[in-house]
Amino acid sequence: MASAKPNRVQLHELSFRPFLTEKEIKDRVTQLGQELAYRVKGGKPSFLVMLRGAFIFAADLIRASGMDGEVSFVRTSSYHGTESEGKVRMHIAPEASAVTGKDVILIEDIVDSGLTMQAFLPELAKLKPNSITLVTLLHKPEAQRVEVDIDLVGFVIPPKFVVGYGLDYDGRGRHLAGIWQLAEDF
Ligand code: 5GP
Repeated sequence: MASAKPNRVQLHELSFRPFLTEKEIKDRVTQLGQELAYRVKGGKPSFLVMLRGAFIFAADLIRASGMDGEVSFVRTSSYHGTESEGKVRMHIAPEASAVTGKDVILIEDIVDSGLTMQAFLPELAKLKPNSITLVTLLHKPEAQRVEVDIDLVGFVIPPKFVVGYGLDYDGRGRHLAGIWQLAEDF
């Protein structure tokens, strides 16, 4: 007997409702992997994964691409709403050996305002990669404040807060197989 799927998830004080199912994500990530392999044809890419939110997406995307590239990680936070906006704080900086002269595939969970990428991409460019291909699972164009050159987008979504599939709310919800959207009706 199939058990009823929950239609709400409570994380701290917030309630979330289903937005993208595990199956929808899996199908789209499979397509993205194939598209990526087509674009980076013949190359041996260097996957650079933005922690923490992109870790689950990256694991699935890299396998879906079938490409045998090296994998490394970066962790940044950006200063929002301050005078130093546009700067990025590197908690884990990219390693030159993984970037210089390489075809870098940068894997991000979500582009929201675009400020993180606006600040990070020039830092990455300083390490002189051969190319940068930016892949993001989610994109909120209506929330975007600055131009970002995104090569591949999984899903274009409305400007509402989401969790699951690696994305958290205050440390919770990363384990959820689907993506859940903030419920604003209570
Ligand atoms: P941006 O600099 O483009 O505004 O934001 C990028 C980062 O903000 C993402 O990597 C992610 O960590 C966080 N973020 C933006 N929107 C959301 C969202 O809806 N849910 C979660 N969990 N994080 C988000």
